[in-house]
Amino acid sequence: MKTITSETGEKIKIVVGDITKLEVDAIVNAANKTLLGGGGVDGAIHTAAGIGLLKECRTLGGCNVGQSKMTGAYQLPCKKVIHTVGPIWYGGSDNERKMLESCYDTAMQLAEEHHLKSIAFSCISTGVFGFPKAEAAQIAKRVICEHIRNGYDGEVIICCFSEDDARYYM
Ligand code: ADP
Repeated sequence: MKTITSETGEKIKIVVGDITKLEVDAIVNAANKTLLGGGGVDGAIHTAAGIGLLKECRTLGGCNVGQSKMTGAYQLPCKKVIHTVGPIWYGGSDNERKMLESCYDTAMQLAEEHHLKSIAFSCISTGVFGFPKAEAAQIAKRVICEHIRNGYDGEVIICCFSEDDARYYM
């Protein structure tokens, strides 16, 4: 675990590993619009959480790109799962950056509203959805730092699946 500090003093922790193992208040899933599971981190979260998560997700009616919804965590060691729907990268002229910003923003808003004291993000949209990793990392850090600067006092973690991915955040 490494801590990075922004120029204006906000601290974010960078962890390399499997987000389904983290004992935090909430993990942030890179979901798709159906919220009914998929591949990548979404599949890993649903597998580890068990069928209860899928059942709750079925009641939510999906989720729009850039928005976030929260559920229980079932058999996961965290307390809540925040499902955010990242944009698919179509080259950058389809509002992808604004949508990714909105993912981090709406997930942080849920953490604030529910007084969650620790939140761990997966690297939203940077897998199958193809968002360029360096730019996604800058957006993630900027939006998270804005929330910390505006008063969020919990712990924020970015959970990278590989050392290579973590380099984009350092
Ligand atoms: P998207 O469809 O939003 O691109 P992916 O799940 O394909 O979502 O990828 C998002 C990120 O999650 C990628 O960086 C991928 O390496 C990472 N990832 C995959 N499985 C896990 C896991 N178990 N824990 C943490 N990160 C994971």
